Amino acid sequence: MNMLSQPRPIRTTCPYCGVGCGILATPTEGGLTIAGDPDHPANKGRLCVKGSALGETVGLAGRLLTPRIHGRDANWDEALAMVADRFSRTIAEHGPDSVALYVSGQLLTEDYYVANKLMKGFIGSANIDTNSRLCMASSVAGHKRAFGSDTVPGLYEDLELADTVVLVGSNLAWCHPVLYQRLAAAREARGTKVIVVDPRRTATCDIADLHLPLAPGADAALFNLLLAQIDRRGLIATQPDGMAEALAAAHATPDTTGLSAQDLAAFVDMWTGNERVVTVYSQGINQSDSGTDKVNAIINCHLATGRIGRAGMGPFSVTGQPNAMGGREVGGLSNMLACHLDIENASHRDAVGAFWQAPRMAARPGLKAVDMFRAVEDGRIKALWIICTNPAVSMPEADRVAKAIAGCDFVVVSDMMAQTDTTRLAHVLLPATGWGEKDGTVTNSERRISRQRRTMPPAGQARDDWRIIAEIGRRMGWQDSFGWTHPAQVFAEHAALSGIAGDLGSDFDISDLAGIGAAEYEAMAPFLWPQSARRKGGRFFGDGRFHTPSGKARMLPIVPRPPTGGPHPFRLNTGRVRDHWHTMTRTGLSPRLALHLSEPFLELHPSDAAQLGLLDGALAQVTNTQGRAVLRVNVTDRARPGHPFAPIHWTGQTAPTGRIGALVPGDVDPVSGQPALKSATVAIAPFAAKWHAFAVSARPMARFGDYSASAVLAKGWQAEMAGSSQPADWARTAEGLFGSAVPPLVMRDDRRGILRLAVIEDDRLVGALFVAPERPDISRSHVAALLGGDGGLGVLAGRPASDMPDGGAMVCACFGIGANTILQAIATQKLVSVEQIGKALGAGTNCGSCRPELRDLLAAAD
Ligand code: SF4
Repeated sequence: MNMLSQPRPIRTTCPYCGVGCGILATPTEGGLTIAGDPDHPANKGRLCVKGSALGETVGLAGRLLTPRIHGRDANWDEALAMVADRFSRTIAEHGPDSVALYVSGQLLTEDYYVANKLMKGFIGSANIDTNSRLCMASSVAGHKRAFGSDTVPGLYEDLELADTVVLVGSNLAWCHPVLYQRLAAAREARGTKVIVVDPRRTATCDIADLHLPLAPGADAALFNLLLAQIDRRGLIATQPDGMAEALAAAHATPDTTGLSAQDLAAFVDMWTGNERVVTVYSQGINQSDSGTDKVNAIINCHLATGRIGRAGMGPFSVTGQPNAMGGREVGGLSNMLACHLDIENASHRDAVGAFWQAPRMAARPGLKAVDMFRAVEDGRIKALWIICTNPAVSMPEADRVAKAIAGCDFVVVSDMMAQTDTTRLAHVLLPATGWGEKDGTVTNSERRISRQRRTMPPAGQARDDWRIIAEIGRRMGWQDSFGWTHPAQVFAEHAALSGIAGDLGSDFDISDLAGIGAAEYEAMAPFLWPQSARRKGGRFFGDGRFHTPSGKARMLPIVPRPPTGGPHPFRLNTGRVRDHWHTMTRTGLSPRLALHLSEPFLELHPSDAAQLGLLDGALAQVTNTQGRAVLRVNVTDRARPGHPFAPIHWTGQTAPTGRIGALVPGDVDPVSGQPALKSATVAIAPFAAKWHAFAVSARPMARFGDYSASAVLAKGWQAEMAGSSQPADWARTAEGLFGSAVPPLVMRDDRRGILRLAVIEDDRLVGALFVAPERPDISRSHVAALLGGDGGLGVLAGRPASDMPDGGAMVCACFGIGANTILQAIATQKLVSVEQIGKALGAGTNCGSCRPELRDLLAAAD
C-alpha cells in the first residue's frame, strides 16, 4: 500500500464509562482499528476491553437507517414535520408541561445543550430529565449541599498521589477499569493502601488491603462513625458551617455497619493515619433512597479534616456515563439550569433567558425521571421524546414504564438502533448518528472536556442529535435561536453563556473558548474546566473558598436511615458486569464481549442457595410486587447472605426474563430524586423447567421457551433456553429456530432424556440444538466454533475429541483465552502468579480487566 494513502488515526474519546479514555481510531476498509491514545491524560494509552472492542461495534447490524412513522419508513421532512406539529399542538392545547424530553448521559454536550435550551428556554418547561438521574443525581445534590455548587474537587492523579484510597460502593475494576488500572499501578509502585467498602466481594477487592463487607445501606453510618473518631482523635482541622450539628449527629450514630470491631478500627486507623486520603464513590452510594445523605456523610469527613482540593486528597464521585458531567454542565437535569446555575434563582433564570433571548423561560424545576414516567402514565405528559436511551429496560418499575410509554398519546424516539425495548413503543423513530459518526465534546469524571470526533460517515440517513433537535426548534418557530450549522457554534454559545454564569458565581466557566471557531474546535486538545480569565483547570477548594453564601463549606447533620423495607425476604443488589455496557445495544454486537458472561445471572451466597434448594447453574425465579425475572444461579461467597446480586444489562431483545429493572420499585432519594436501584426486596424460588437447551445458529434465532438468553458469536448467535412444557416435535422446533427447511440430523439418548440435533445446509453447519433435563453438559465454545464449518456431524458429540483443546468459558476477552486453557497452563507449567500467566499465555497483559479472574483461577487450582 502507498504510505501516503494510509489512513491516519483520529483522536476521539470512548463512549462508555466516565473515565473518558482517549482513543486513536483508524478507519479501515471494514470499519475502525482502535488503540488507546498515549497523549490523553485520562488513560495515557490504556484501554479496557470494552474500549478496545469498539471497532467490532460500528457496523450496520441492527441500525436504524431511516425515519419511521407508525412502523413504516418515512422521509426526514415528513417525520420532523410530524414531531414539530404534535409538540406545538400539544403545548398549545395543554400547556408546556404536557410535553417532556427524556435524554441521556451518552449524548454529547452539544446535543445536551440544544435539548436543554429548547425545553427550558423556548417550550417553557423544565420537563427534561436524563438517565443520569439514575447514575449520579445524589452526588450532584450532595455537592450542592456541601460546596454550594456541583463541583468535583479533585483530579484522577489524586488517586495516584494518595496514601490511602477508599472505594465505596464502587466496583472500579469492572465499572471504571482504566482508573482501576491507574490505582493498581500506583499501589504497586508506592504502596498505596486500598480499602474497598462493599457488601459484595467484587473484582475490585483483588487489590484491597482491607475489604469492609458492610451491611447494605450502612455507608452513612460508617462515615458518621469515622467522623466521630476524627473528632475524638483531635483531627478536626477546619470550621465549615454546620460542624457542631454534624458532629452531634455523628456521635449519636449507633454502629449498624455489621462490621467487626477489628475491621472498623482498621478502617478508622487507615483513613485517619494518612493525610493524603481519597474517598472514591459511585453507584453503590448514589443509587439509594438515602444517597444524598451518604454523599454528605463522606464529604463531611473530608471537610472536617481539610482533606479536600489538595494533591492526593478529597472526596471523588466517579460517574457511570461518558458525558454525565457534560449533562450537568448544560443543566440536563430537570432541577438545574444551564452552566451550573439554579433554576429556582430568579436572577439566574433572567440571565440565561436574556442570553438565549428566550420567549418563555421555565420558571420552576421539572419532573425527575421516576415522576416523569408516572406523569406519562397518568396522562399529564401527552407528548414524550426519548433521546439516546432505553427507559423501558433501564428505569425502575420497567414494566410499568414500558406500559406508560405504550399508552402515551405521542412518543418520539431518537436512537441509532432500530430494535430496542423502547424503540418498539415509538410512534415516530428518528435515526441518530452513533459513536464514530458524531462530532462534539464530552466531560469525564475529573472535569476534563475532550472531543469525540467523527471517524466515519453517518449510517444511512442518520443525523446528529443536536441537528435533529435544532431542526425541531426551527420548525416550532424559533429559526434564529436554533440556527447553528456546526457543532463548534453550539460549543461556542455554551462557552459564552458559561462566562455569564461565571459572573454570577458559577464554578463552571469555560468562557476562554467563547470565540472558538471550527478549526480551533477541530484541533481542541483535552482540557480541564474551568477555563476563564478568572481560573484555569486544577483542583477546587484547596483555598478554603466555596460557592455557598458564606463562602464556607457546609457540613450536614446526617442521621443514617436503613433502606426502605419491602415484603420479600431477599434484598437484591444490582450492577454492571465487566464486558457490557448499559442495555448492550453496542457491546452486545461484539462476540468477544458477549461471551465473557453470556447470560443474566443471580449471584447467591451458598447458605441462601442451600436454603432455597438451588444448585450452581440452576435457574431461579425472582419475583416481587413489581415484576418477575428468571436468572441463572451463580453460587458464590462473593455475595453476602440474604443479598443476592444481578446485573442490569439484559433486555427484551437479549433475555426477556432477565430485565432487572422490572424488579426495582420506584423508591427515590427525597433530595436528589435518584432511584434506589440496589435494594429491591425479592422472593427467590427454583424455576421448574422440564427441559433445558443450548443452541447455535448461523441465522438470528426465533425466541423459544419460557427462558431464553441469546448472545452474538463470530459466525452467528447462541442461546440458552428452558421451558416448562415439552414441544410436540423437537425436529420441527429446530427447523423453526434455525429458519431452515432442511430436516435436522438427530441423536437421541432416551434413557438420559438427551436429544441433539444439527441442521446442515450445503455441507455447512447452520444450527445445532442440545436438549437435556438439566443444563446441557457440552462445550459451548467448541460448538460455537464449528458453526458455519463443514465439520457438521461432529458437532453432535458436543465437545472436542480428547486430543483436541477445549478453551472453556471466556476469561481474557482481549486475546480470547478461556478458563480451561488457563487452568491447563497453570497445571502443566506450574504457574503461580498472574504475571506468569501473562508471560505464558498473554492473558491479562492488555487491558488487565481479567486479572482478578486470573487470580481466582490460580486460587481454584491451588
Ligand atoms: Fe472506555 Fe474502558 Fe476507558 Fe471506560 S475505562 S472510558 S469503558 S476504555
